[in-house]
Amino acid sequence: MSVNATREDTDVSRRLLKLALDGEIKDCRRCEGMNKDRVTASAPGYGSLRSPVALVGQSLCQKCMESQVPFTGGSGELIDKSIEQAGRDKEDVFISNAVHCHPPKNRPSHEHEIVNCSPFLHRELEIVRPRLVITLGRDAERVLGFFYPRARTSKSRLVIPRGRLPRGAPYIFHAKHPSWIQRQHDERLEADYVSGLAAAIRWSFGQAKEEPDG
Ligand code: SF4
Repeated sequence: MSVNATREDTDVSRRLLKLALDGEIKDCRRCEGMNKDRVTASAPGYGSLRSPVALVGQSLCQKCMESQVPFTGGSGELIDKSIEQAGRDKEDVFISNAVHCHPPKNRPSHEHEIVNCSPFLHRELEIVRPRLVITLGRDAERVLGFFYPRARTSKSRLVIPRGRLPRGAPYIFHAKHPSWIQRQHDERLEADYVSGLAAAIRWSFGQAKEEPDG
């Protein structure tokens, strides 16, 4: 079988797995009061299933619930700028959340919601198998630490890892949540944040070129 045929098979299998998972997320009622249509609804992870990078936020904001795309508007504009500065479109990367539903009034997620929802995120990451995961905020940081306890990590600014990454675990970059950055009202900080994320996203796509079958 040719390399292209193998890759197409893998793509089909990824799409099928993701479709089934999306359905499970939409039907999920593990957390009381969550996943109610137009009130606390869920959105599965968004974007390319072949992306070398996954961005993981906290939970679904109101606008994101309406658009069904994580990081829509608000502080998500910093994420959009980072992706654009990296020379990519939003659908080129994979974006999800530690909690897939919209907590009422954007309140912080409850511990049981993070615990209940983390298997969905883990399965998404197992489908996409990104080389780099960028966590955006504390909930995502904690959850990724549980998923990949031996993963190599960097915090605040991406430190390019030396040598090949171990197979089976992504490199993890723990970044601040963009809403925290916006709350500082510091243009320089925002610009540094955007360029730091853009550099990390660019690096992941460079890795994908070097290790096309990774
Ligand atoms: S937050 Fe996650 S686990 Fe809880 S109901 Fe929504 S989809 Fe299910």
